[in-house]
Amino acid sequence: MAHGSMETLYRQVIMDHYKNPRNKGLADNSAYQQFHIKNPTCGDDITIQVHVENGNLKDIRHEGTGCSICCASASVMTTELKNDSLEVAKDKIELFFEMIKGHSVEPSELLGDAVVFEGVSKYPQRYKCATVAWQALKEVIGNG
Ligand code: ZN
Repeated sequence: MAHGSMETLYRQVIMDHYKNPRNKGLADNSAYQQFHIKNPTCGDDITIQVHVENGNLKDIRHEGTGCSICCASASVMTTELKNDSLEVAKDKIELFFEMIKGHSVEPSELLGDAVVFEGVSKYPQRYKCATVAWQALKEVIGNG
């Protein structure tokens, strides 16, 4: 596939997750832990909620407002990391950060649809938008 059409495909995936977010809305359940995070440079305001059971991410939810990159990234993250073990999830978060910083990430299959944010590496002012939800997940599972 030519590079241009790849970028078009990526943009379509991002817009789809922005318009039809997966796993959106917080659960009213004390089994969940959550972390609230803000990106003041853009106004993104996101809460990530997780239900960890036997060392696995049984559920990941998100709620909040923000730009298309931020909201789509939160949605993609929940679909890609749900049901992962905490160890795998932590590895994926670090891989995602590396990819956003523009480092080539070899095991791209680990990231699934999250590769659609690869292009953000060309726009440093959007780094936080792409990573803010992942940072929140890192915080909430780091404690548990
Ligand atoms: Zn943003």
